[in-house]
Amino acid sequence: MWRCFSAATGLRHRETEIDRMSAAMIAFEAYCRVALDDIRAQGRYREFTPLCKQAARFPYYSSANGREVLVWSANDYLAMGGHPAVIEASCAAAREMGAGAGGTRNISGTSPVHDALEAELASLHGKPAALLFTSGFVSNQAALSTILASRPAGKDQLWQVFSDEKNHASMIAGLKGTPAHVQIFRHNDMGHLEALLKAAPEGAPKLIAFESVYSMDADIAPLASICDLAEAYGAMTYLDEVHAVGMYGPSGGGVSERDGVAHRIDIIEGTLAKGFGCHGGYIAGQTEVVDYIRSVAPGFIFTTSMPPTTAAAALASVRHVRGDQARRDKLFERAEALKRRFDAAGLPRIASVSHIVPLHVGDAALCKEVSRRLLEEFGMYATPINYPTVPRGQERLRFTPTPVHTDAMMDRLVTALVAIMKQSQRKAA
Ligand SMILES: *Cc1c(COP(=O)(O)O)cnc(C)c1O
Repeated sequence: MWRCFSAATGLRHRETEIDRMSAAMIAFEAYCRVALDDIRAQGRYREFTPLCKQAARFPYYSSANGREVLVWSANDYLAMGGHPAVIEASCAAAREMGAGAGGTRNISGTSPVHDALEAELASLHGKPAALLFTSGFVSNQAALSTILASRPAGKDQLWQVFSDEKNHASMIAGLKGTPAHVQIFRHNDMGHLEALLKAAPEGAPKLIAFESVYSMDADIAPLASICDLAEAYGAMTYLDEVHAVGMYGPSGGGVSERDGVAHRIDIIEGTLAKGFGCHGGYIAGQTEVVDYIRSVAPGFIFTTSMPPTTAAAALASVRHVRGDQARRDKLFERAEALKRRFDAAGLPRIASVSHIVPLHVGDAALCKEVSRRLLEEFGMYATPINYPTVPRGQERLRFTPTPVHTDAMMDRLVTALVAIMKQSQRKAA
């Protein structure tokens, strides 16, 4: 597998290219070098861990040296990426329609599969309409920036946005550069949110942007309370359910479905890349709102549509997951089993009301070290989460057990973590 994909080298023409470099390019490259050194000095340099997913062996991946690695931090939460129905749908679509969409949605890039997937997602959330994007990131960026550039209350009334302080970078990207007045409320703090809503100009259009499951903290927003406040102050609600779709609610419609408030959320945004195991993002909401975003958002209009192979795989996955309650039950049973094991072993687990199991480390270098040793000595992988993803001092490892992580795998993990953490404490002492 690795050999046939081995990287080509791109340096053959390097000498002549250097001759032709502009002064600006030379200065920019020097700037990059200094900036990278700085990132390294801060311990923030990101290095990829090359791992090859093995559809039939998930959660085992293979590493470059041919070793099997047990992965604990995949966002393929329900192990749907390797589901036979999903793979088959993707292969069948490739044979029938080819590899790429061949155009934007407006330029012959709309297949019946795209339309069927949008209808399926609208139905999943009980909304009249849904719109696909090439990723969850793009859906947040494109939808929010388009909404906030509008003037529904007249030319002089800017949008007032209330954004949870822990919101994902993709939502922040959607707020930046818009004329909206953005206020950040303390994470899940309803008192703070209400104070900000109260102080906002009365006639201005308001929007509350938040997530359901926050994947770094493993906590869940009080959706009903946010809806109550939104109602009281006439604010629109924009909910990122990326870490919940597929997993929460009786048909995988997310925490908004679980809590019975989906009808009170104006726009639900989700991904097909996590619980559904494929790729792509979407929004669901009112017909004319979705149609307006479809008609004006550059992030929708000017990019080739999702390949039909991916749309077909995602459609198969969503259809399957909606009816597979056993898979959801198993996910939560497995998450609880891992939490219990961490607690029994005295590992410093961070409290979690979700399927995500974070472990406190509290130091960037140590966090990377534990992750490295887990991989090199024990053949297991968990992502180290460091600043700026979490504040300094709150560095952690993040575990996402799936329905196919067994008791034996968990025992192996806990034994390894206890051994590594003990040694690192001894070193620190
Ligand atoms: C991963 C993530 C996204 C982006 O979704 P992709 O489909 O991976 O682009 C958006 N919001 C949150 C909260 C996420 O964690």
